[in-house]
Amino acid sequence: MEKLTNISFVKDLLSAAGFTFSKQMGQNFLINPSVCPRMAQECGCDGIGVIEIGPGIGVLTVELAKRAKKVVSIELDTRLKPVLDVTLKNYDNVTVIYGDVLKLDLMQIINEHFADMEVCVCANLPYYITSPIIMSLLESKLPFKAITVMVQKEAAVRLAAEVGTRQCGAVTAAVSYYAQAKRLFNVERGSFLPAPNVDSSVIRLDVRSKPPVDISDEKAFFKVIKASFGQRRKTLSNSLSSGLGLNKDKVNLCILKAGLKATARAEELTLKDFASLTDILFKEE
Ligand code: SAM
Repeated sequence: MEKLTNISFVKDLLSAAGFTFSKQMGQNFLINPSVCPRMAQECGCDGIGVIEIGPGIGVLTVELAKRAKKVVSIELDTRLKPVLDVTLKNYDNVTVIYGDVLKLDLMQIINEHFADMEVCVCANLPYYITSPIIMSLLESKLPFKAITVMVQKEAAVRLAAEVGTRQCGAVTAAVSYYAQAKRLFNVERGSFLPAPNVDSSVIRLDVRSKPPVDISDEKAFFKVIKASFGQRRKTLSNSLSSGLGLNKDKVNLCILKAGLKATARAEELTLKDFASLTDILFKEE
């Protein structure tokens, strides 16, 4: 099926199935022919297993199927079933599962479909749930080799920023605890049907085999990160005392004990700084 990026072919295919785009489900389908082969190439799925989230009409799925040993695609919208039955019919290494990726048991899917192989994730994500999907994939600690996703350009900048720089947010720090992020390439809004009003970027998260810092209490560590970035224009001290409901003098003392300046801001901290600060804050309680 080589015509999945041909606008009139796609329109005919969708209208024959009585399909109308749902903005709510983040349905913007890729029609730029160079994007999917490049994504499939750069996600590292050659000869291994790949989970795709949201196949749409299968334009990326077929590129993954040409390279990977096995593809499992998870699609929320069952209205796409008659379309995918046609577009994927020649690929016997593809299984489509209809359901919400945030509700399915991915461990079970991996055991069932990828028992004897490495697995990666590759997806053009629905914009409305980009961060929840990425965080739930990372927090699941499932054995993904890499997670390659297309997201809104602004989200990509934040997700792949260096911790300790101005673009860093809570999500940057959380992502870099689990993975090394790399921006691969940009995709203009005109590459989609219908065109969204933002540009996109593809990023790859190479999942770490071991976190880059030792953490004694992960839950507390993420709580501190979230509170630190809670009020971006405030100093670390103000954000932490209001976010964690702690006495400001105590917070100031902990900041100094962690070797940080009293006027520090969250975006100046490294993961190691967040780790020491967490230990000190929670030991002092
Ligand atoms: N991969 C296709 C492409 O690149 O043209 C479609 C990408 S479109 C941006 C996002 C897809 O994710 C849609 O097919 C949508 O129905 C699906 N989707 C939305 N929410 C989902 C969810 N919670 N779980 C699984 N799929 C979802």
